[in-house]
Amino acid sequence: MATDYKFEGWMGLDKNAIGNMQWKAYEPKPFNDDDVDIQITHSGICGSDLHTLRSGWGATDYPCVVGHEIVGRAVRVGPKAEGGIKVGDRVGVGAQSASCLQPDCEQCSNGEENHCMKPGQADTYNSKFKDGSKAYGGYANYWRGPSHFVIKVPDGLSSEAAAPMMCGGVTTYAPLKDNGAGPGKRVGIVGVGGLGHFGILWAKALGCEKITAISRNSTKKADALKMGATDFIATDEDENWDQKNAMTLDLIVCTVSSPKLPVASYLSLLGIGGRFVQVGAPEDTIPGFNVFALIFKKASFHGSKIGPPHQIAEMLKLAVDKNVQAWIQKRPMEEANQAIVDMDEGKARYRYTLINQKFAEALNT
Ligand code: ZN
Ligand code: ZN
Repeated sequence: MATDYKFEGWMGLDKNAIGNMQWKAYEPKPFNDDDVDIQITHSGICGSDLHTLRSGWGATDYPCVVGHEIVGRAVRVGPKAEGGIKVGDRVGVGAQSASCLQPDCEQCSNGEENHCMKPGQADTYNSKFKDGSKAYGGYANYWRGPSHFVIKVPDGLSSEAAAPMMCGGVTTYAPLKDNGAGPGKRVGIVGVGGLGHFGILWAKALGCEKITAISRNSTKKADALKMGATDFIATDEDENWDQKNAMTLDLIVCTVSSPKLPVASYLSLLGIGGRFVQVGAPEDTIPGFNVFALIFKKASFHGSKIGPPHQIAEMLKLAVDKNVQAWIQKRPMEEANQAIVDMDEGKARYRYTLINQKFAEALNT
């Protein structure tokens, strides 16, 4: 079956692609029986897009269409598609587009598809599907990929808010949920940016007792308190912030991707049995620290990578149930180059969503 639409998107062509992406047509993967085509109405801008466009995490496979916070309308659904997806449904895709899905894969069988290491795992861009075809992301008109990673967007959640939740949202939701964030828990969120703002919102939605936002200065303090933070630490403005706040937190989620993290000071904030979870992904190594910081307090240092499809669905439901309001700014898809330059300069408050106006208007979302 031929499609009556063409796949076109903003392509990064080399490591100078930030601000220089070019709108071009491309060939998507061959359509399989379990695939879905999405007409993209909304695409969030994630920090990963910047790292990838400039080859910051290693050489990028150009040409590359970035964007892994995709929301739109299903326009073609294979006969073996999962999840009851129908043509016309409002759906989304996050940073992962495929995994092996084999019964003997421990991760895929246990709902941890995001940690599948087997052949068949594919990121939404700068990656290849099992058949060798390239994966293209969301700064585009259409997306094609396996239905297993396509999630229905529930009524009551706008597409512009749902889009950045597909990666930024779940990247902070998963470590909070997996590490027991909830009533009685004292949680710290390091970095009040796109990821960190979601971290504060989820910590509040999950009912955490204390939510400490940690930033370099106090310019975002008022915003963080409005999002639900109960406490705020400005590390550049208070020399003794680590001592003053020692042992006040059970769980810290660090969203910062600068390699200059004061790790040892962050660890001093943990109480006995506390956990530090790093989700920001610096392009360089982070500072070392004395392991007594962990030994004396039975504390641990963790990582967390996005989230599996079932957890994305759970998060979207929580967003509806608790009326979570993402702080996003809408930008036209046509102006993706300017939007990504602004993102790189740290101007987003707190996440940009690109809008494909012609499709969004037709859908009235
Ligand atoms: Zn697997
Ligand atoms: Zn992302």
